[in-house]
Amino acid sequence: MQAYTIAMISNKQLFLLNTAQTSTTPKMLEIEHASGIYLYDTSGKAYIDLVSGFAVSNIGHRHPAVLDAIRAQLDKYLHLTVYGEYVQTPMVKFAEKLVSVLPSRLNNVYFVNSGAEATEGALKLAKRFTGRSQIISCHNAYHGSTHGALSVMGNEEFKQKYRPLLPDVSFINFNAVEDLELITTETACVIMETLQGEAGIRVADVDYMQMLRQRCDEVGALLILDEIQAAFGRTGKLFAFEHYGIVPDILLLAKALGGGMPIGAFVADKRVMGVLAENPILGHITTFGGHPVSCAAGLANLEVILEEQLVPTVFEKEALFRELLVHPKIREVRGMGLMLCMQLDSFQQVEQVSQLCGKEGVIIDWFLHCETAMRIAPPLIITTAEIRKVCKVILAALDQLA
Ligand code: PLP
Repeated sequence: MQAYTIAMISNKQLFLLNTAQTSTTPKMLEIEHASGIYLYDTSGKAYIDLVSGFAVSNIGHRHPAVLDAIRAQLDKYLHLTVYGEYVQTPMVKFAEKLVSVLPSRLNNVYFVNSGAEATEGALKLAKRFTGRSQIISCHNAYHGSTHGALSVMGNEEFKQKYRPLLPDVSFINFNAVEDLELITTETACVIMETLQGEAGIRVADVDYMQMLRQRCDEVGALLILDEIQAAFGRTGKLFAFEHYGIVPDILLLAKALGGGMPIGAFVADKRVMGVLAENPILGHITTFGGHPVSCAAGLANLEVILEEQLVPTVFEKEALFRELLVHPKIREVRGMGLMLCMQLDSFQQVEQVSQLCGKEGVIIDWFLHCETAMRIAPPLIITTAEIRKVCKVILAALDQLA
């Protein structure tokens, strides 16, 4: 009798009942399988994923090379021990590949499990290396949701109920040269997204970024660039800092790093990273960081990005979106590469367009700190025919706005 009762409860009801909710209006899509840029719900309806699972699926969902790498690792071992003790081949090979595509001063990788954890590790590393406590972040920044990451979030609404947070955190305006003088010899680090994502895709000027780099060098503060959303080709370069001719002291990675598997990393020079290993030892610890299956998937993912030469295709795809997304309701198309957004006038419009697109099989979303813009960040493998198709759907939805 009890089995009968349980069988009558749908997965959607169980989702609401037994899994913690992060909003009162979840999307409630139940996906049966995913492939490439498509998600398929339980009725077989196909959706184009125009947000890439939030900047994760740069090479599409379930790329065959990633699946093969996962299967091969499953036959060897899963978790063995905590991070940093055993020589685990998938982690070693992945780190080797990663540093081979990074500038020489980013030569040492600390693998963690997520973006927020990468933020946490980097903040600790900067404090430890410099012996200073002040952290500078930007208004409207998003670096994750854990306590340290929340402390450097640039949106008071999300923070106020969780205070006290980390002390000695100050905020500057993104892309404001006049604020750079607030970075001083007291500053341990400046943490900044290379382009701000959740603020509604804000792109910094080249001059500003170069002055920021110079100011950090002058005062001995470490520059942490958060490319958790922007890396792995999304902006038309493998790493977004390449647009600016600068190199951070610490680079944060996650999201697309694992090709769909959970993994994050902070990357620095070995000389900097070395402080975590001494006096006391175990300055930063993680049980699952650099999980062998995630590392195997991450290596395959990076090889696909490089071998399929996905990055050079990004600019022409951006140009096509910009050419097609012209409509009286669109105030601006902002961003870089396939990290774009479409600025509308109100949240109501954004919600309505999102719902209309959903009905037509296009998944589109908004931003944490900018509810009036819509995120356009498809997998980099999207074809020009598919771009034309989704833009047609978006324009038809905009036509229906009052
Ligand atoms: N940093 C940036 C720029 C992000 O966009 C995100 C997530 O959206 C994070 C950090 C946090 O990553 P995670 O959700 O893996 O903790």
